[in-house]
Amino acid sequence: MDSLESFAQAKLAGLEAGALRRRLVPTLRGAESSAERGGRALVSFSCNDYLGLSHDPRVVAAAQGAVAAFGAGAGGSRLVAGNHPVLTRLEERLARHKGTEAALVFGSGYLANLGITPALAGPGDLILVDELAHACMWGGARLSGARVVSVRHNDVSDLARLLAEHRGAHRRAMVLTERVFSMDGDRAPIGDILGVAEAHDAWVLVDDAHGLGVVEAGPRAPLEMGTLSKSLGSYGGYLCASQAVIDLLVSRARSFVYTTGLPPASAAAALEALTILEAEPERGAKPLLLARRFTARLGLPEAESAVVPVLVGEAEAALALSAALEAAGFLVVAIRPPTVPPGTARLRVAFSAAHDAAQVDALAGVLAALTGRS
Ligand SMILES: *Cc1c(COP(=O)(O)O)cnc(C)c1O
Repeated sequence: MDSLESFAQAKLAGLEAGALRRRLVPTLRGAESSAERGGRALVSFSCNDYLGLSHDPRVVAAAQGAVAAFGAGAGGSRLVAGNHPVLTRLEERLARHKGTEAALVFGSGYLANLGITPALAGPGDLILVDELAHACMWGGARLSGARVVSVRHNDVSDLARLLAEHRGAHRRAMVLTERVFSMDGDRAPIGDILGVAEAHDAWVLVDDAHGLGVVEAGPRAPLEMGTLSKSLGSYGGYLCASQAVIDLLVSRARSFVYTTGLPPASAAAALEALTILEAEPERGAKPLLLARRFTARLGLPEAESAVVPVLVGEAEAALALSAALEAAGFLVVAIRPPTVPPGTARLRVAFSAAHDAAQVDALAGVLAALTGRS
């Protein structure tokens, strides 16, 4: 066996031993949070389609219309092949929604974070990142070549201490956090973070992937990024910021300059979804209401967002619980390290406007029986 094969097989064996190997499972996602696996119908609590818009007939029609009119792909990067007006319209609408001067759409949220931070910070600069921030926030910070320091989760005094200690030795500073944390569902104290950061002239980048359309209240940061793939039901990423920052990124964000533009259909779908999100506020309120119904039933801390973690501990136990729920008709993904810290494997339950109260109650009942909660 050659060294590449033996390397891959040894790594896989290690993952397997720790119940950390990941596998792709054929699954068909349908409307109203339905899913089909191996011919069985399931109710999915595993998706980030918080407003149920990925299957909304208006959103689907917008995508179909754009494919028919403009083709399946963008044909090249926006700077090379030319900029499609639907992307500009989407950017104007995102900026208006967030109250910023401008916005820039990227190929995905992951690509946005890989491009934003390295365009604004580099060697000699300081980046403070919440320890539970998403892998792509960490990825962008590390890619920048700046000094990267981990901040205790949602701990503003730790942030203040680190800024007081390190800010002076660095040219520029950034603070990276999430409005709603993707695997814990809790919210960051954005107002307090902005206050501390401004006092030290540090620029705050907030990842709003799980907030947009679901948790909208509260102060906004000068740099607000997010994704078109969760509450907007489409695909792509964005940054909302001042005109000057956006203009700089058009020239300097490598994950914008050197990659193909978002397909017009993805942009058209997101644009239609944003219109619905703004026109139907009751749709956006529903995921949090259902999440709170669920946490009340199970005696868990009250949900702060559409994401509720049910902590299990070991990866193997989380997988077993997920499998038992699937046997009962529910798709609830087990989240394991390194996505979450070792010993904190969990079920991640995601609520959507497409769920109804009876489905939530049914899931809570099965989970209570499986875990001995009441
Ligand atoms: C999903 C997610 C991303 C990545 O967005 P994509 O558009 O899926 O690449 C970024 N940040 C957070 C917090 C996320 O949960």
